[in-house]
Amino acid sequence: MNYFDYRDNRLFCEEVSVEEIAREAGTPFYLYSHRTLKQHFQVFDAAFGEIPHMICYAVKANSNTAILRLFAREGGGVDLVSGGELYRALKAGVEPGKIVYSGVGKRDDEIDFALKTGILMFNVESDQELRTINERAATMGVRAGIALRVNPDVDPQTHPHISTGLKENKFGIDVEGALVSYRNAVALSSLDIKGVSCHIGSQVTKVSPFIDALERLKDLIRRLREEGIAIRYLDLGGGLGIAYDRETPPHPDEYARAIIDASKDLDCTFIFEPGRVIVGNAGILVTRVLYTKANDGKRFIIVDAGMNDLIRPSLYGAFHQIRPVVRRGGEEIMADVVGPICETGDFLARGRLLPDFRRGELMAVMSAGAYGFAMSSNYNSRPRVPEILVRDERWYVIRKRETCEDLTRGEEIPDFMNV
Ligand SMILES: *Cc1c(COP(=O)(O)O)cnc(C)c1O
Repeated sequence: MNYFDYRDNRLFCEEVSVEEIAREAGTPFYLYSHRTLKQHFQVFDAAFGEIPHMICYAVKANSNTAILRLFAREGGGVDLVSGGELYRALKAGVEPGKIVYSGVGKRDDEIDFALKTGILMFNVESDQELRTINERAATMGVRAGIALRVNPDVDPQTHPHISTGLKENKFGIDVEGALVSYRNAVALSSLDIKGVSCHIGSQVTKVSPFIDALERLKDLIRRLREEGIAIRYLDLGGGLGIAYDRETPPHPDEYARAIIDASKDLDCTFIFEPGRVIVGNAGILVTRVLYTKANDGKRFIIVDAGMNDLIRPSLYGAFHQIRPVVRRGGEEIMADVVGPICETGDFLARGRLLPDFRRGELMAVMSAGAYGFAMSSNYNSRPRVPEILVRDERWYVIRKRETCEDLTRGEEIPDFMNV
């Protein structure tokens, strides 16, 4: 469910014509629907209404501070993976007590920043990290809340690059290793063991891998409790998928029902770290057709957005629906949609049956709200595009288009080159 729809063959976001925004803002740009974002958050949150839970939105999916503020106002917390994300979350007004910090490579200064902030807990991914957090906390005279990120070794049946819960992945600690690390943690006096966590992967379109992971975590919790180690939080991570094309991921209600049914008498507060499922279908990338051409019969639509703006197609072979911003009917053609970047891998869509786009026409790349802008770069010295948020009949630039000055900001030519 989202609020990108045609009215008289013109694409609207909520009550605003996408064409009108393009006229004023220029292209390319990311466009988000406030109503969709809010609804996705609320639907996910409400699905777990029966059990104690926290929704810690995964900042990396879309880290714009306006979007973080929106979720914070809905009562959400965040899951973060860097000091930079912590800075953003605090700037957006997220409560420290609702912040969890994941990631295999936390630096000492990042740990210190999180300790000073007083976050709920670190999702710890190795025994060395556990000891480091203990030392930093001791030095600062505080206690660090921790959960161990367990690698449950379940196959999320998703793209190999975004599967994280298999034993060959770099993430987490295997169940037996975790048991040992928990025992170690008990002896580390600046740690406060809060829970158990996992995250099995992304764009998971079935419920069963989550339930398999949950069963393994439940078993671990039972064993820990037998040893007198108290566990209050069970963090099941994120990863619920969305429909980019013809996938049929479970609705959050179905996902929640299965989890609730599988966790009777567990006596834990659940934490969820959804990213994509909240923001993915709440955003699009709008781009303009620069040229069309055919090479030996193969047709290309060259647009002004490239892999630096949206890397998912080149990185994962990800599929994004392509739609015209103004529908005018007529014949469809088989074509690739490519960007201006000097890389063969610079494409947004390949071998698609598409409207016969002409130079100057606008194109919407759908489902671009997650891992879109957040993964964008300045490659080929292209200023990053603006992010725009629509709310009802108004729109707001929530991140300005970068300028050429932004591109060279921070660069310096050493003195010896000036003679
Ligand atoms: C990426 C990530 C998430 C969010 O994943 P989605 O697939 O976007 O829901 C949640 N938790 C952790 C630890 C992650 O690395």
